[in-house]
Amino acid sequence: KPLGIALVGLGYYSAYQVAPALQQTKFCKLTGIVTGTPSKATEWEKKYTIPKKNIYDYKTIDRIADNKDIDIVYIVLPNSMHAEYTIRALQAGKHVICEKPMAVSVKECQQMIDAAKKANRQLSIGYRLHYTPHHQEVMKYGREKTFGKVKIVETSDGFKIGDPNQWRLKKALAGGGAMMDIGIYALQGSRYTVGEEPVSVWAQEFKTDSVKFKEVDETILWQLKFPGGAVANSSCSYAAGLERLFATCEDGWFEMGPCYGYGAIKGRTSKGDMNLPQLNHQAAQMDDFAQCILTNKPTRTPGEEGLKDMRVIEAIYRSIETGKVVPVS
Ligand code: NAD
Repeated sequence: KPLGIALVGLGYYSAYQVAPALQQTKFCKLTGIVTGTPSKATEWEKKYTIPKKNIYDYKTIDRIADNKDIDIVYIVLPNSMHAEYTIRALQAGKHVICEKPMAVSVKECQQMIDAAKKANRQLSIGYRLHYTPHHQEVMKYGREKTFGKVKIVETSDGFKIGDPNQWRLKKALAGGGAMMDIGIYALQGSRYTVGEEPVSVWAQEFKTDSVKFKEVDETILWQLKFPGGAVANSSCSYAAGLERLFATCEDGWFEMGPCYGYGAIKGRTSKGDMNLPQLNHQAAQMDDFAQCILTNKPTRTPGEEGLKDMRVIEAIYRSIETGKVVPVS
């Protein structure tokens, strides 16, 4: 029997990516929702035939503990709400998928990991790209040194952000700007291409609109040094589109682009096109997690993976503040 998933927060990502993907999954299905908007509850109840008893709001969410139809709670809320609702769902005895960025500080990430251990439940971060053949291939090139040792990586992710009133531009809800939201993909890309954790970072922030980006970062450029000698040059931006992962190695190169969006990923190497199958990222991610729970195997994107990113992001912000190269610690 497929595991039941309850979505918490029915905004863009839940409505247009996760819920449609749950119509394609084999090992899990949409059985519950948590929303603060009564009209959304009615709409989703009809659209996805969700029983009334499986519909919660932010006050009643803890009662999910008594609901056998729900095995996994998927947190799709603004970033600063991730920690609280992840911990509450774990305390209710449910396994949790939490969207990226895992939280807004290393401290919160650690509290979430501790809560999962205490509850003896699995916590997975919504790093959907880890479940795609293309990104898995890049991880393999790094690990197996297919083109020799990776020397220099260039990664970048960005888009032009619209509505100036959205939560992504409010520090209290987003935790940060482009870095937290999409820079995390460029950061992840460099970490799993090299297959090591960076030791130091140097970063600079640029702003062209100090009104719109009063509270959060617009564009950040950063460089990472890895212990084996590889270096990464990366960027993220809310000012314009950017989407690339490139790695040059001792005996060749590989690159992807587009590579962070939901659509088809394109990849090339110095030996030719990657030519790998495309799949629905979110369906692959959720089915993998359901199988991990069913077979008692660890998820490939646990809370520890989210915490590693947050450690680098905090170092990036520290470097911007001090103007210095700072250790990632
Ligand atoms: P959104 O604004 O479309 O949805 C947010 C939801 O949270 C809304 O339903 C809103 O009503 C609800 N909410 C509850 N309390 C709120 C509050 N105090 N302020 C604002 N909204 C509140 O955002 P989204 O694009 O769906 O993003 C949600 C999360 O999903 C974010 O953490 C984001 O980083 C993540 N996300 C991940 C991907 C991915 O590819 N993995 C893509 C998009 C978004």
